[in-house]
Amino acid sequence: MKTSVIGYPRIGKDRELKFASEKYFRNEITENELLETAKALRLSHWEVQKSNGIDFISSNDFSFYDNVLDTAVLLNAVPKRYRELGVSELDTYFAMAKGYQGDKGDVKALAMKKWFNTNYHYMVPEIEDDTEISLSGTKPFDEYCEADKNGIKTKPDIIGAFTFLKLARFTGNKTADDIADSVAQAYCEILEKFNSLGAEWVQFDEPYLVRDLNDADKVLFVSLYEKILSQKGSAKVLLQTYFGDVRDCCDEISSLDFDGVGLDFVEGKMSLDIADKIDGNKVLFAGVVNGKNIWKNNYEKTTGIIDKLKSHFGEIVINTSCSLLHSPYTLKSETKLDESFTKHLAFAEEKLVELNELKKIFSSENPSQTEEYKTNAALFSEDRDCDNKEVQKKTAALSENDFVRLPEFAEREKIQKTVFSLPLFPTTTIGSFPQTADVRQNRAKFRRGEISAEEYETFNKQKIKECVALQEKIGLDVLVHGEFERNDMVEYFGECLDGFIFTSKAWVQSYGTRCVKPPIVWGDVSRAKPMTVKWSAYAQSLTEKPMKGMLTGPVTILNWSFPREDISLKECAYQIALAIREEVIDLEANGIKIIQVDEAALREKLPLRKSDWKSDYLDWAIPAFRLVHSGVKAETQIHTHMCYSEFTDIIKDIDNMDADVITFEASRSDLTILDSLKENNFRTQVGPGVYDIHSPRIPSVDEIVSAVEKMLLKIPKEKLWINPDCGLKTRGNEETVPSLENLVKAAKLSRKNVLEK
Ligand code: GLN
Ligand code: ZN
Repeated sequence: MKTSVIGYPRIGKDRELKFASEKYFRNEITENELLETAKALRLSHWEVQKSNGIDFISSNDFSFYDNVLDTAVLLNAVPKRYRELGVSELDTYFAMAKGYQGDKGDVKALAMKKWFNTNYHYMVPEIEDDTEISLSGTKPFDEYCEADKNGIKTKPDIIGAFTFLKLARFTGNKTADDIADSVAQAYCEILEKFNSLGAEWVQFDEPYLVRDLNDADKVLFVSLYEKILSQKGSAKVLLQTYFGDVRDCCDEISSLDFDGVGLDFVEGKMSLDIADKIDGNKVLFAGVVNGKNIWKNNYEKTTGIIDKLKSHFGEIVINTSCSLLHSPYTLKSETKLDESFTKHLAFAEEKLVELNELKKIFSSENPSQTEEYKTNAALFSEDRDCDNKEVQKKTAALSENDFVRLPEFAEREKIQKTVFSLPLFPTTTIGSFPQTADVRQNRAKFRRGEISAEEYETFNKQKIKECVALQEKIGLDVLVHGEFERNDMVEYFGECLDGFIFTSKAWVQSYGTRCVKPPIVWGDVSRAKPMTVKWSAYAQSLTEKPMKGMLTGPVTILNWSFPREDISLKECAYQIALAIREEVIDLEANGIKIIQVDEAALREKLPLRKSDWKSDYLDWAIPAFRLVHSGVKAETQIHTHMCYSEFTDIIKDIDNMDADVITFEASRSDLTILDSLKENNFRTQVGPGVYDIHSPRIPSVDEIVSAVEKMLLKIPKEKLWINPDCGLKTRGNEETVPSLENLVKAAKLSRKNVLEK
């Protein structure tokens, strides 16, 4: 049996690529220096896989920003506005990724969306009517050759034609069908090129196949691959799927001329049954090592799966369930975590070891008698010491009333209108203000024990004071304290709560150069002491305006952590909800009248198939949020915030969270969500972000006024809030201050315009 890895993390174990890219953006290093860093990273990633005995190592899994964007560029799908900048190839690429504002022009970035059910984001390819699809780049070939020169045979990894077409956005009249032929043609040329380079296998990633597919989708998939595979030469083609099972198209997959098929046995509920329907002469790449979580693989379970598959397939390759991009690099960097924890964990590098151990186990006559198997079985039979009986009792005692806030929405809305007497279109921000170098340094110094708790606090209070003064000066209506005490909206709460453990360097790429360091839910979760009250109460003491308390919601904490695998997500979410609920009640008791509970990641873990939405997710996720705020008074206003709000299809459920106000990202998705707010009579007040904070460009007053005008076509004016689309922590003050000034000016103008109408 051989081993394979779908893709490897690329940001660097010390985030080298992030730092080099950011230096390049600031003009502190040259393009060549950036390219050198990238090259060194690629080589080290191939080498670590090789030294761990991996047989199928991917190339072209590297990216400067995102693989979908790479594929768009490879296929010549570069919208005119970026070409017309006339900047270098690399800078055109970065302009698509982050927008460009400089002497060559002013363009926004491409839209960015969550990559299936992960916390990774991809850039949405844009196809204009005059886009000429053709093979026009060399990245996959260059990287293949680069590995080859270093003595490493790789299988190039490319986003497949079907997934590419399904994820692309068509800005004109053309549809996927109109360009399918030219896309297929480009993929034929890709294969041809790899044939000539001597590649043995080429991997096409088609995660879109695990979604619900209709007949037209299936026709498109089949027609693309009939054409692509008809040009197959010596290089074998692997169809790689992940994040679920391919129940809607297994017959099609089976009858197409793929040499190998990659199925996910971790997230694919039906993959075992489906495998039986796939032609056994194809090589099965069995995704059994979880690419997304950090727990050790259970060899007993894995051998159980492989044993079932053996009778059907002539050849099985042991594979990761998805790219290891979603795993942190290595436990070797976790010098502060006790061995009693680490022995249960496996990051990317340790997963390579697992693949290799599994290979040994399967090549033995008597797998369950191998040392590797026995050591693993012993570990899983151990007690992990993660129970808190008190917490378990509390969740068991929950009843229906605990999930219902009274009085009901309309009555609260009336009461709150008089309590707050805010102007029309109240202005606010999402919570964080720029995390400038001094803020990060202060936290780092405190962590290293170089300054006292008192010094740490004094500094943060000074920052809060400045932040409040700034917001008053700009003229915002509902203020925030700025979140200077937080490294990350989830990690902060994880650290304050019992039941989580933390890593030092377990970074996972979120988008572009941004990484997150998810905490690990180790055991039952509870709140040891108030977590935010001191900061919020201090901030409120500085102003007459309402100060928003700022919390992260249970679903987001859970979704942005590495979850336990030994209890249900529902149970875990309710535990966290009860802890956050205690904080909400404490904030209210301490004079905080508006409390925002961020559910930035609520949409993210919505199952990919509609049939699983309710039962597997919404039926506990929405109640978990309601549990957090059902205990507050009518006059306390509950806000929530969601990112990348592709939530048109769960709009009723969002309304059912029963928050008073929701803010969300809208500027990057062309305000399409507004229609569905209107159609569904959305009752929660809304602040669809009026500008994109993921890019450094400063929105003009006019631009914001016209965004507001568009919103007013769909949203009753009494329900509209004006705010940026997300927190400002990744931005600098240089762009934040003028952007917010413009936002407030635009709000004032819009109020005037409405009154004059
Ligand atoms: N309150 C958080 C902030 O402003 C929300 C961040 C987010 O939605 N990702 O940073
Ligand atoms: Zn957000």
